[in-house]
Amino acid sequence: MIKDYQTQKALGERYDFCILGAGPAGITLALRLAEAGWRVLLTEGGGREYSAQSQALYHCGSSGLEMYAGETRLRFLGGTSNHWAGRCRPFDASDFAATPPVGLPGWPISYADIECYLPQARAIVDLPEGEDFKAINPGLDGGEFDADRFLLSTPTRFAQKYAKALEETPGLDVFINCNCVDLEFDQGSGRVKAAVVSDYDLHRERVQARHFILAMGALENARQLLNSVSLRAAGVVTGDGMVGRCFMDHMNVEMGTFILKGGESTTTRQYYTSDAFVSEYQSGKGNVTATVLDAVQAYGRTAEVKRFLENLACDTGMASKIDFIASFSCPGDGVLSTLIEQFPNRDSRLTLNNQKDAIGVATLNMHWALSDADRHTIKCIGTELAKQFAEADLGFVKLNPFVYDTEQPLKLEPHAHHMGTTRMAASPEHGVVDEQCKVFGTANLHIAGSSIFATGGAANPTMPLLQFALRLADHLNQQMKATTA
Ligand SMILES: Cc1cc2nc3c(=O)[nH]c(=O)nc-3n(C[C@H](O)[C@H](O)[C@H](O)COP(=O)(O)OP(=O)(O)OC[C@H]3O[C@@H](n4cnc5c(N)ncnc54)[C@H](O)[C@@H]3O)c2cc1C
Repeated sequence: MIKDYQTQKALGERYDFCILGAGPAGITLALRLAEAGWRVLLTEGGGREYSAQSQALYHCGSSGLEMYAGETRLRFLGGTSNHWAGRCRPFDASDFAATPPVGLPGWPISYADIECYLPQARAIVDLPEGEDFKAINPGLDGGEFDADRFLLSTPTRFAQKYAKALEETPGLDVFINCNCVDLEFDQGSGRVKAAVVSDYDLHRERVQARHFILAMGALENARQLLNSVSLRAAGVVTGDGMVGRCFMDHMNVEMGTFILKGGESTTTRQYYTSDAFVSEYQSGKGNVTATVLDAVQAYGRTAEVKRFLENLACDTGMASKIDFIASFSCPGDGVLSTLIEQFPNRDSRLTLNNQKDAIGVATLNMHWALSDADRHTIKCIGTELAKQFAEADLGFVKLNPFVYDTEQPLKLEPHAHHMGTTRMAASPEHGVVDEQCKVFGTANLHIAGSSIFATGGAANPTMPLLQFALRLADHLNQQMKATTA
């Protein structure tokens, strides 16, 4: 049943599971565990709809590359699935086999560990049954760029799709406007004893459960750990430890433009780095999408307009300024956008600010930073794609200079795929959660969502994070059965 904590202070006395955050990860986990017969609490900080009051709690400073933390997440029931685009591409086995060339280990588990959850995850995001992830164009002949394969979700809005289940599943209590503000950790037993929740009038209450799962999105999962006084006092979370580090997003780099040879179809093409490419260049993976902005076949028409503007800019001596502030694309232009893997990087990190938000929780600062290895990936993907595009006789690519000249500042946008801030590893030296998504140093605190990703590949994160949530549900279910038997 869904209750509003702002007006109904009716939390149960003790739950089997307390899940904090009701986005795709939290909703999936809560329903699985309740369906298995456990008594489950799912708390959501926001309401049923968007509100400025809740969204303001997502304010996050930025000292690195801008990743728009305030705008790229939604803080109400269903989370960011309320505006996700629905593109689904699974991880590959090779994502789990590789060690990133950055002095950090890759995944401590193999792809087979989550592959078996793919059919269930697909069903959750309503992908057509029996249909394979498919390509919209062939790959390039050189063997370095395969066709990208993906499917589009409707896109599934979790709060709408699961509204009835959240209301009616026996054993499940859902509270909206119920913000997690602290975790109380008992060092002696190694267990989180209670989560402290708050409404918007700062009424606070302790919630007790046998297991706690953070599912508040990749930034807030780390924020909650960093904010817990008792986890810090016990040394489970330390100021310079791994919590909040290795933030990764997928990079949308403005690679450049292209013109097609006469007669080529202007439909969008999507390419994906082959495993051979990644191994040859020791680079990350990436998607390159080649789009002709409008179905204008006669490229010459826009070329004329551009030539006119170019002459005007040069004649008035303003070419460089105009290029800097107003380099925009026009109908008929071919543009290359990307979704490129960022390697884990300790210096790309979240830290706490001195200020507190309206419900008394310290706010975050994000320092999103790329490494030389990421510039290398971008350069390899850009230059090789341009070469192969020409060799395949499709047309010509004009790369932006910052793609191959890594000294120049890069122009890129984030994809809002927040990953890595509580990464999975074999030991606390390299991560925050173990192979079962349990926080190192605790006996009953787990994490769901893409914050646990050890590497991000170039696959969209939501369907894979559901595979992990389903795996975690199975693990917790079995563990509880074993301890209560
Ligand atoms: C514009 C856009 C397009 C996207 N398109 C795609 C796409 O095509 N494909 C893809 O795979 N991914 C896409 N994504 C990413 C996708 O939305 C996320 O991967 C997904 O929503 C993450 O799910 P989650 O449950 O881990 O976190 P969230 O969806 O962020 O949910 C977290 C929940 O926790 C709640 N919460 C936060 N703090 C607290 C607190 N203190 N107490 C209680 N509750 C709290 C929030 O209100 C929210 O409901 C897109 C994202 C954006 C912004």
